[in-house]
Amino acid sequence: MQVWKDYQEKNKDRFLNEMMDLLRIPSVSAKSEHKADMLKCAEAVKKSLLDAGCSKAEVMATDGHPAVYGEKIIDPSKPTVLVYGHYDVQPVEPLDLWKNPPFEPTIIDGKVFARGSADDKGQFYMHVKALEILSKTDSMTTNIKFLIEGEEEVGSPNLGKFVAGNKDLLKADVILISDSSIRSLSWQR
Ligand SMILES: [Zn+2]
Repeated sequence: MQVWKDYQEKNKDRFLNEMMDLLRIPSVSAKSEHKADMLKCAEAVKKSLLDAGCSKAEVMATDGHPAVYGEKIIDPSKPTVLVYGHYDVQPVEPLDLWKNPPFEPTIIDGKVFARGSADDKGQFYMHVKALEILSKTDSMTTNIKFLIEGEEEVGSPNLGKFVAGNKDLLKADVILISDSSIRSLSWQR
């Protein structure tokens, strides 16, 4: 729809800058020295969900790193989409194999290079921005929930318990997995 494209075009520099800020947070779940960064990143994800139009977003404790939940319910009788993603990233060692510092996002040939840019901050952020576009242009037709966890890169050891303990909160008709390949065609136009 043209109104979506117009919104995207008008805001694309901000979208990119916001994603770059997220990529600068070294949210390495496997390393205990990054515990504070994990919390900082979870808070940043929560803020991004609220800014995008979620009426509620929370950093929720688990037995490990926190998970972030957000929702925009337009009508409880309409279907609900649950977007899954993760804000944690893999360790970056060995550092000498990086051409650019992993937490200083660099754009080369229209692509963003940084730890997490393609797994999974880039992908889930795309869906956060999709929510923003739908929400700010009054074009939502379903309810949307987000579960952005912080332990995917260490095997999601606490996700099962978290989901089992929050069944009603996470109830949805469709789950959309953000943690997958990126199709870049639309950005070339
Ligand atoms: Zn992933």
